[in-house]
Amino acid sequence: MAMAWIGEGQPHEVIAVPGVALADGDVLVAVELSTICDSDVHTVSGRGHVPAPLVLGHESVGRVIAMGEGVVHTVDGSTLRIGDRVVWSVTVSCASCDRCLHGMPQKCRAVSTYGQERIGVHGDLTGAFGSHMQLRRGTAIVRVPETLPAAVLAPASCATASAWAAVSRAARDKDLQGAAVRVYGAGLVGLSAAAIAVEHGATVEMVDANPQRRAFAARFGAEGIDRHPDVVIETSGHAVHDAFTQVDTGGIVVLAGSAIPTPPVLFDAEDIARRLVTVAGVHHCTGVELSEAVSFLAGRGRAYPFADAVGEVHALGDLDAALLAASAPDAPPRIGLVPGR
Ligand SMILES: [Zn+2]
Ligand SMILES: [Zn+2]
Repeated sequence: MAMAWIGEGQPHEVIAVPGVALADGDVLVAVELSTICDSDVHTVSGRGHVPAPLVLGHESVGRVIAMGEGVVHTVDGSTLRIGDRVVWSVTVSCASCDRCLHGMPQKCRAVSTYGQERIGVHGDLTGAFGSHMQLRRGTAIVRVPETLPAAVLAPASCATASAWAAVSRAARDKDLQGAAVRVYGAGLVGLSAAAIAVEHGATVEMVDANPQRRAFAARFGAEGIDRHPDVVIETSGHAVHDAFTQVDTGGIVVLAGSAIPTPPVLFDAEDIARRLVTVAGVHHCTGVELSEAVSFLAGRGRAYPFADAVGEVHALGDLDAALLAASAPDAPPRIGLVPGR
């Protein structure tokens, strides 16, 4: 079954999916836990641009229960098997277009995105808010350890991987060892970015108006910096102007929170140019970045309270109540959903 979103202000409708035809390279996954991302909340509030009806959600961990013809490989090149516990990319890509071949599979010319597709285009099980998902050829699949809690793994495909991609983008330009990093926004992307940057040797400061979130960020390694930041990671979408003006000369601003609708800001090109500032965008991730993010969670990431970021877990049948709870100002970074009513 899956929960179909019909449109703003309307309750989700349960759709039964009695059978699934698996094409070559398809993988059927039984969802163990999904989490509600901020973009799901934006969509149900009518601020997204998605074709209804559709099954929302794109953060899950699950187990392979069936496969189509042919061998499916995980990102690390090993053979996927029935019974494997996995996470998977938000996007499906062709692996042969110019963008796929140049390290941007998430911007594939023929990209499709889980949780954003009208029901029927690629079947019914195209979003995380269902009991199962049908993963198509071109999905980056990563096997995950049995010992990691589902609450740690479900957000990997979006929040953790985006944070990993953002810090990696900064690290491409800047040695993060000893660097001063400021993160705007203590949502799960920001919290994850803080921990990842700390593990790269940086000193990290978190800026967020919510004192509870700031306190939580301290458990992800955020403390304070005593100078203008060498690196700014903007995950809130609402501090872009501050990010541009506060970053040190020669620094880099990574925008990792602007893919949901955010207010436009004045871009002072003269100031950016004179101060040799780099501005980089991050949106979704590559399969390799997802794999690296999972490795982080399974390794050094165990020292941080990722599991505590999922503050509530609801039954999938209570999706409307869960989405309402996720939109509250004092909501935990993530709310989980388990299949069942
Ligand atoms: Zn997301
Ligand atoms: Zn492509």
